[in-house]
Amino acid sequence: MSNLPSEPEFEQALSEIEGTLTPFLEKNPEYAKAFKVVQIPERIIQFRVTWENDKGEVQVNRGYRVQFNSALGPYKGGLRFHPSVNLSILKFLGFEQIFKNALTGQPIGGGKGGSDFDPKGKSDNEIKKFCYAFMIELSRHIGDLTDVPAGDIGVGGREVGYMFGAYKKYRNEFAGVLTGKGINWGGSYIRPEATGYGVVYFTQSMLRDLDNTDYNGKRVLISGSGNVAQYAALKVIELGGTVLSLSDSTGSLIAGDAGFTPEDVQAIGDIKLKRQPLTAFSEGKSNFTWHAGKRPWTLVEKADVALPCATQNEVNKAEAEALIKAGVRYVAEGSNMGSENDAIEVFEASRANAKSLSDAGVCWYAPGKAANLGGVAVSALEMAQNSSRDKWTFETLDQKLKDIMSNCYDACHSTGKEYSKNGSVLPSLQAGANVAGFKMVADAMKDQGDWW
Ligand code: NDP
Repeated sequence: MSNLPSEPEFEQALSEIEGTLTPFLEKNPEYAKAFKVVQIPERIIQFRVTWENDKGEVQVNRGYRVQFNSALGPYKGGLRFHPSVNLSILKFLGFEQIFKNALTGQPIGGGKGGSDFDPKGKSDNEIKKFCYAFMIELSRHIGDLTDVPAGDIGVGGREVGYMFGAYKKYRNEFAGVLTGKGINWGGSYIRPEATGYGVVYFTQSMLRDLDNTDYNGKRVLISGSGNVAQYAALKVIELGGTVLSLSDSTGSLIAGDAGFTPEDVQAIGDIKLKRQPLTAFSEGKSNFTWHAGKRPWTLVEKADVALPCATQNEVNKAEAEALIKAGVRYVAEGSNMGSENDAIEVFEASRANAKSLSDAGVCWYAPGKAANLGGVAVSALEMAQNSSRDKWTFETLDQKLKDIMSNCYDACHSTGKEYSKNGSVLPSLQAGANVAGFKMVADAMKDQGDWW
């Protein structure tokens, strides 16, 4: 019996990876030691953040940075501002980030941080005050060669701007210490779009390679309506697919058969910037149906692709079964740990039990650590541009993003072929992502004397 405090989200992420490593560890038992070492963060920083609200009252929140693994490069991973933030959630996110960052093929380690601060209902002035207060402590622990945070839930361009400004003032240093910066002060083109576009590029590889098809005419379910969901939706529409759903923490919005238009997505983006619920968009519009408190997965009878893009554990077992029943053949997570482990088992069983590629009822599952790595990959390209004082064009970066997503798919597919459980004829992209990411990190750790 462990005497450590219970960390349910972290334990879930750990068991998800562990479950898929078995065939690899059976062939390479020496790596079992590396798995024991890699699951303990190199360092965790916890701190107090005091700030003043618009009424002049003192407020206090918890701040964190989990510096999980630096075998491949400086710690890299987002900051999340959300009332649910705790150490279990940040450890799960940081742990996933290690292997995700390895799969980008770029020199970045894994980390994650944030605060239980709730940005909803706060004025711009309060957000600024919080960001400055948060950076008083965080600025001591990060740096362009040490740890380079980015955004995540509740942290977008505005918050990155305030935190960068704070860092610059406290340290008197204009350094590439955060990514997701403004385009005219060290930011990179395509960073805002990268995670959403990347999920769609990854699924394009799945569609092409597994079924020789594309997005044209495909019916697509998306959850969330934040940064990742908005850009995934826009790219799907651009490629000829129909986006049938978007959602937020209050419910799901289902569009008619014509789906959401780019103008709808833009209008939703404007509403979300003001942190309003989706109903502020849909009220009075007859071509949308609002389902309060529901997720989209059971609300549409027929679909081809599902892209969870809201938050962790947003697809459960029953919803996974409903997706397969609706004909969904591709699930790729824009969110981190979007599916519960029971749901992943449903998707993976549909693949493992198939006799050939053309079997009906197969639902291919791409985990977030592979499908959503476009954001951090372009963050690493932002770091490269900052180091070389250079600025690449949108087109150059879009092509690099496409190549990174396609290479990641190939790595997941080929490694999955070698290490899928139960001798299935179809490779597990989940096992492929976990084994490929883990091996890269474990090898670097061994070279650096972290295990032997
Ligand atoms: P945003 O804050 O922009 O959007 C989050 C969306 O998820 C909002 O629609 C929000 O609803 C919804 N949401 C948040 N919590 C819940 C909940 N408990 N139940 C239902 N819906 C919820 O975040 P991002 O789009 O940046 O991030 C979305 C996911 O993608 C996260 O899992 C994140 O870790 C992951 N990710 C993000 C990357 C990035 O580059 N931004 C990179 C890789 C992964 P509401 O508007 O009501 O709050």
